[in-house]
Amino acid sequence: MKQPVVVIGAGAAGIIASHTLATQGVPVLLLEKTDRIGTKILISGGGKCNITHDGPIEHVLKAFRKNEANFIRPACYRFLNTRIIDMLTERGLRVYTRPDGRIFPVDQTAKDVVRILHTYLDEAGVKIKFHSPVTEIVAPGGRISAVRTESDLIPTEHVILCTGGSSYPRSGTTGDGFPWAKTLGHTIVPIRAALAPMEIGLKRQAVKAGVSLRNIILKARVNNKEIARWQGDLLFTHHGVSGPCALGISREVSDHWHTAAANLEIDLLPTVKLEEFQSDLQTFKAQKPNHFIRPIVEEFVPNSVAPFLLAVAEIPEDARAQAVSKKQLNILAQTMKFWQIGEVEEVILDKGEVVAGGVSLDEVDNQTMRSQIVQGLYLAGEVLDIAGPVGGYNLQAAWATGFVAGDTAAQDWLS
Ligand SMILES: Cc1cc2nc3c(=O)[nH]c(=O)nc-3n(C[C@H](O)[C@H](O)[C@H](O)COP(=O)(O)OP(=O)(O)OC[C@H]3O[C@@H](n4cnc5c(N)ncnc54)[C@H](O)[C@@H]3O)c2cc1C
Repeated sequence: MKQPVVVIGAGAAGIIASHTLATQGVPVLLLEKTDRIGTKILISGGGKCNITHDGPIEHVLKAFRKNEANFIRPACYRFLNTRIIDMLTERGLRVYTRPDGRIFPVDQTAKDVVRILHTYLDEAGVKIKFHSPVTEIVAPGGRISAVRTESDLIPTEHVILCTGGSSYPRSGTTGDGFPWAKTLGHTIVPIRAALAPMEIGLKRQAVKAGVSLRNIILKARVNNKEIARWQGDLLFTHHGVSGPCALGISREVSDHWHTAAANLEIDLLPTVKLEEFQSDLQTFKAQKPNHFIRPIVEEFVPNSVAPFLLAVAEIPEDARAQAVSKKQLNILAQTMKFWQIGEVEEVILDKGEVVAGGVSLDEVDNQTMRSQIVQGLYLAGEVLDIAGPVGGYNLQAAWATGFVAGDTAAQDWLS
């Protein structure tokens, strides 16, 4: 009797790969290190799960870097963003699309997504072994022969590697797949934090943790050259910044880490030019000399941040317009347009939603997800060198590559 296909890792990619195999009559053994499937799905989107991104697949692909988009394009056309939604809604999940294209369950809980996916696996007859950390993929002479767990040696000719990345290690993803792939001959593109909060230096201490800024632009500069910017909301943490803007530029900051640390700058007035705002402040002074300056600043930032910005321009918190010089007002405007909040000390990989780097895309056939190095090995999901932005893109990449890996392994097993 033929040995089952072994799928390592019951995340988004491993679940869809296993289901695809089992529905074609192929015996599957899904090995999962933790005690449940979809651990990362459960914490995704703040526990609400941004399942995928809406719209034509070419638009979805545009969110990825070009080489990554090219790699996942065939898989995303075969497993469209609508397909995962159909799978879930057919089993009763109600979803809605936010104006920015992100798709979530109406009931705002990832648990329903995982519960439905578990039902699919059970119905298809996927055998799942929990608490089964794989320790080695055995492939003498470049051909898969077995998978070793802490307690067993499981013979198999086909392995789908879906162990994910290495952020949020407590969710089970400790980057196990990277050293195995390397031992088997694959190149591992260095792992870097992406979609991660950042720690910054002392300048930020003026702002309390928990303060958030709405619709600002966060820019990163390396050697005075802008390397990334993101418009949206920003959250100050105890040691740095988080929220969409920080996550949005963190990959570029990590990419430049070997060059120099990045400096972060905030534009609190993205829709106004510096000169316009400077002129507005002068007009305000001329027309309302008895009014306080502080409320103008508080129109753009939380009250607790205003004193800090005023202090940079040496404007007392209780100053009225007539007491403030033109130079001070110009410095205030300058600070609000180009607020230097400090140098990045660390992009926190553990707390990233995803890691950049992983198994080199040059060594995996993107039509089939077959390893081009090891016979009988297929790879899918975040273990590959793919990292999309926030927005449901990373799960889409995992669902789609998982589907193709499962389908190819099924064809190979059946042939
Ligand atoms: C906080 C957070 C929020 C996120 N939010 C979103 C979102 O809303 N939308 C989105 O698109 N993406 C989101 N992401 C990213 C997304 O969750 C991942 O990119 C995606 O889950 C990757 O799927 P995967 O199947 O490749 O890996 P994973 O889902 O990470 O699954 C890998 C599985 O392999 C198992 N495993 C690892 N090593 C072994 C081993 N040795 N033996 C056996 N099993 C093993 C792990 O336990 C895990 O279950 C988020 C990530 C995080 C951390």
